[in-house]
Amino acid sequence: MDYFSESIKQAIRTVPDWPNPGVQFRDITTVLQDRTAFRKLIDAFVHRYHGQQIDAVAAVDARGFIIGSALAYELNAGLVLVRKKGKLPFDTLVEDYQLEYGTASVELHKDAFRQGDRVILVDDLIATGGTMMAASRLIRRIRAEIVEVAAMIDLPDLGGSQKLRDEGLAVYTVCS
Ligand code: AMP
Repeated sequence: MDYFSESIKQAIRTVPDWPNPGVQFRDITTVLQDRTAFRKLIDAFVHRYHGQQIDAVAAVDARGFIIGSALAYELNAGLVLVRKKGKLPFDTLVEDYQLEYGTASVELHKDAFRQGDRVILVDDLIATGGTMMAASRLIRRIRAEIVEVAAMIDLPDLGGSQKLRDEGLAVYTVCS
């Protein structure tokens, strides 16, 4: 997987102290605007899931949508949007989770999956894992099966990917 990860990693821009002091923000716009890096990024995910039965890709608002839509298209799977609260128009399920300061919520349409659907959950980055954990709870409430939680970037020092594994979720990240 080094073929994919090294060149993608080089294309990520780290912006110090944004949006708050002390945060090393991983800016993926530099990957997206680089045609070679963007293709390699999507290929890394496609390569991992190609040939498996995947019914849907669930993508997290908002940068997860970019990866998720390209991946769903390539896997011939549906695309399900896990959105920030207040954006989805039909009946929803909601999960709240802790942020460093305060709480946030993610939302999913109640009819987003059929029971037993095999789902890849995708976002750009796993930090504390709170977002992916809340999104995975939503998917499990609809009784879909999470094949794997996938992200472009893992920040392992924050322990999020380990926390997800401790919950029995398989986790795949392209770069860490
Ligand atoms: P967490 O819930 O702590 O795992 O945070 C993951 C979510 O917050 C993802 O949707 C990321 O886009 C965003 N995020 C958290 N930390 C960073 C960071 N250092 N750089 C870029 N995005 C981040």
